Amino acid sequence: MSQKNPDQAEPDDSQPVVKTDAQWRKLLTAEQYRVTRQKGTERAFTGEYWNCTKEGVYRCVCCGAELFTSDTKFDSGCGWPSFYAPTDDKRIESAIDRSHGMVRTEVMCRRCGAHLGHVFNDGPRPTGLRYCINSASLKLEEKTPAPADSSDKRNAGKPKAEQPDAQKPKADKSAPKR
Ligand code: FE
Repeated sequence: MSQKNPDQAEPDDSQPVVKTDAQWRKLLTAEQYRVTRQKGTERAFTGEYWNCTKEGVYRCVCCGAELFTSDTKFDSGCGWPSFYAPTDDKRIESAIDRSHGMVRTEVMCRRCGAHLGHVFNDGPRPTGLRYCINSASLKLEEKTPAPADSSDKRNAGKPKAEQPDAQKPKADKSAPKR
């Protein structure tokens, strides 16, 4: 049997988060509340993360569940943060959304029911999916750079620009633009 570490920073994702409407209103900004609790949509190209390329984990703005990572984020050109996969399918709930004269697949945070956005079948490989998510539903937890350690001694003393890997651009993990 696996033992849970009580000091774990990560909350237990299996426990649903249930709050009253008043509690959510208090916890969220007006825009976050409108999008996540009232199934709203932020205007394209206006959210905090649509063109964000920072590395890290995108958590549910309501309950903190780990939903997406920057590794699966790609530039879809649609004006909303787009991912080709969630960190775990089990953290996402989906439903048919027939609003606005369209049939779409809505995606929600399984843990707290927050509306996140929609998933479409026009994404890149390897999944072919495009999770089109509102920035207002997400909170990016930026990856902290690894502290310099002794394995870097061979370059100690050299100016940064002369270090072999220092100026190398990072591998472009984003999927090809369509
Ligand atoms: Fe949530």
